[in-house]
Parts: sequence; C-alpha cells; structure tokens
Amino acid sequence: MVALKTQIFRAGLSALWFSGAARACERWTAGKGAILMLHRVQPRDAREFAPNARLSISPEYLRALLAAFRAADIDVIGMDEALARLRNPGRTRRFVCFTFDDGYRDNLEHALPVFRRFRAPFTVYATTSFVERTLAPWWVALEHVIANEAEVRWSAGPAQKSRTARGMWSGFARQTEPCGALEARPGAALEARSGAALAAQPGAALEAQSGAALEAQSGAALEAQARLVLAARSGAACGAWSCGSPKTDSRLARRTCSLCVSDGEGAPLDAEACAVRPHGAGERVLRFATKTSAAKQRAFAELSALFMQMPGAELRTQLERFMTEHGFSMRALAEREMCGWSELRDLQEAGVEIGCHAVSHGCLSHESAETVWYELSAARSLLEAKLGQPVRHLGYPYGKPEHVGPRDIAIARELGFASAVTTRAGCVFAAHAEHRHGLPRIEVTPGFEASPHYLQTIVTGLPLLARNRGRAVVLD
Ligand SMILES: [Zn+2]
Repeated sequence: MVALKTQIFRAGLSALWFSGAARACERWTAGKGAILMLHRVQPRDAREFAPNARLSISPEYLRALLAAFRAADIDVIGMDEALARLRNPGRTRRFVCFTFDDGYRDNLEHALPVFRRFRAPFTVYATTSFVERTLAPWWVALEHVIANEAEVRWSAGPAQKSRTARGMWSGFARQTEPCGALEARPGAALEARSGAALAAQPGAALEAQSGAALEAQSGAALEAQARLVLAARSGAACGAWSCGSPKTDSRLARRTCSLCVSDGEGAPLDAEACAVRPHGAGERVLRFATKTSAAKQRAFAELSALFMQMPGAELRTQLERFMTEHGFSMRALAEREMCGWSELRDLQEAGVEIGCHAVSHGCLSHESAETVWYELSAARSLLEAKLGQPVRHLGYPYGKPEHVGPRDIAIARELGFASAVTTRAGCVFAAHAEHRHGLPRIEVTPGFEASPHYLQTIVTGLPLLARNRGRAVVLD
C-alpha cells in the first residue's frame, strides 16, 4: 500500500503538472538542467522482502522517461557537456544527465540497451572495491543474508580495551564489555531501549539525561532511535538507564524489544531473549529471528543502522565476517551483483562515462582527511590504470550533508575532479559553475513509475525550490 505521505506528494506533483503551474514557472525555476541519480535498472519482481527496492527502476520506466524528455525537447547529455553549459552565462538548452551510483551489473545488462536505443549518454560512478570483488555493498549483502536465513547474528567482536577514537562505530566496538545488568534483569532490555535513544550523545551527557527527556519524544521518534545500541554503553552505564518514569515505562513496555530474538509478530521482552549476550571470550552478539517478512524488515533496519556508521576499513572487516559466519561469499555476491573490470570496459566502449565513487563506499564525514584523500585518489588512480582513460567526475558515497561536508568537497576540488555530485536535491543553475564539487542531484525512485509526469514536474525545479526555500544553490 502506498503511504499517505507519498500519496499527498504525488497528488501535489500532479496538481503542479496538470494545472500548468510547473511548466509556466520552469523558465525561472528549472535552471540550466538537472542531474538525475539512479542506482539499478531491473525487471520488476514481486518479492515481499525487498528492502533495497527503492534503488531499482524498471527498464520500461527508464524507456518512458527518456521518451518523455525527448518529447519535452530536453537534452540528455553527459557530465562534460553539462559543465560546458554551466560555464556558458547565456541561455542554453535544458538538459538532464543520467548518473548511476555504485556500479551494478544491471547497468550494463538492462540500462545500456535502453540508452543505446535513444542514443543517450549516461555516467556510472564505480566503487573500486566492488569492482575488485573485495567488497559488496553492505545493503545488498544484508538483504541477501537476511532473505536466505531464518535467524541472523551479528557479532561485535571481542571487547576492546583501547580507546582509539574512530567515531561512533569504534565507540560501539570498544564498549561491548559484559554488562551483567542487561542480562540479569527482565526489564533490562526495556531500560536499554531508553538508553539507546541517548547513546549517540557524549558519554557524560548520557547519565545526566532523565526519563522526562524521553517522554517528550513521540513514540515514533523513540522507535526510530532505540536501535542497536544495547551494547554501545559500558556495563557501568547500563545501571543508569532506568528512565524512572512510569508513563514512559508503560509506553515502552508495550513495544517489542527490536533487538530480541522474535518471530516479528509480537516478540518476547525478556532478558533471556535479549540480543546482546555473551558469545565466546568477551564477544557480544546481536540475534534476529528472520522467519517472516516483517521480522526480516526489522532486522534489516537494525543492522543497516550499524553498517551505515562504519568507517570504510571497519566495514570491510565486519561485513566479511558477517557473511562468512552465515556461510555466504562476499566475492560471489559481488560477482553476481556488481560490474567487474570486464563489464566496466564494456560500458566504457559503449560510450558510458565511468566516474569515481571511492574505494570502499564508507561515509566520508566519518573518516580522517587523510583517509578521504586516499579513498578518492586511490579509486581514481585504479580506475584510470585499469580503464586507460582519465576519470574526471566524482560521485560522493551517500552524499547528504551529514555524509559529505565542506572538508570533503575541498579535497575533491584539490584532487582536480572536474565535477562532484552529492545527493542534495535540486536543479543545476549557472551559479553552480562556482560550486562544481557540490552539485545537487534528483533521485529517481520506483515510486515515480506510475507516471513520467512525476519526475517531469520535479525537474521543472518548482517543487525543489519550494523545498530549498527559494535557494538555487544549497551547500549545507
Ligand atoms: Zn553509492
């Protein structure tokens, strides 16, 4: 069923389109054009558990989009031509660029034939570890394991005594010391959920928080925040997690402990089932029952939050271990889902521009400046060496303001990339000629498949300008 928010959004787009308002304003709102962000093109399937479905559009929809842009006299061009039009201060023909992130094999198998038919170019931003088969996208790996298993486990690894700060992730890893309070008391999971909502804050602030702060949040916010972090505090801190508010306690008690082994349909809330339990010498393990589609969705959401926080180097180690423990091969999955060098060369020979999408697809803002420099420059060097052509364009992994900051944009500029695209939403205006390393994009999702006019309305820029409060260039 389509969510109400989506229905309202689509209704708004339809109103702007069919009233003629979007097209009447596009002379002022559409800028020079738009850079579209896509990931995968795959035939539609009806799997119930498909947490990454939002990354795939169908070949039919891609065909319809290209036909619609052609009918609207909007040029489909590559990134170099887009930069040339940005530099031209005069009026230029409207354009869209199609860009694909990560380097999925279906870009060759399903997207390329459609673009060929329309003689239209596109760009693929490739992550070199995916191409080398040493890493698969964690979201693809998680889906694969959870889809095929009735229970999944994630081990945080042995507790670490050293306090080498590597951001939130290593905070998690180093604080997984045994916590007797969590396992011994039946209400411990409940209290831990309260604590989890606070765990992103500095340690000193945690104990200072009261239940009242939690109570002030909506149930949905609590649900969203009370994640993964059962193990993120030391044993000493666990005892301080009781929120002390009967009202909050009763509201939380009605919830399912989402970190517990459960059937996904009203799970037990007891310490015995609590997901954080001793496992080997000092190890902690999160366990999820994943028999039903709902339980699979929940496990995916919980584990996604974990993997999203990991710096690239940790991600590689942890994901490899996660897959191996469940009997799956990272290499085999990467070979099945991602382009290798042979596929990238086929794309290149067909006229597709290959851009850089870092070495390991870690979140750049979580990395040191040296690591960001390495992630971008080493990926570009390897792509150039293997493909024998300059790699001029960069797509930042993730790309939202919390993932890519001014420091990372400055590094991309210093490295000499001709352009770098984010996932900030917006059209491209002449003013972006001065901000070529923080270009906005418009995500193309299967939610728009019901009609090409949804995306056509968005690229008029009117809904985006409203979202960006009238600012053409949004850098924050
Ligand atoms: Zn990506």
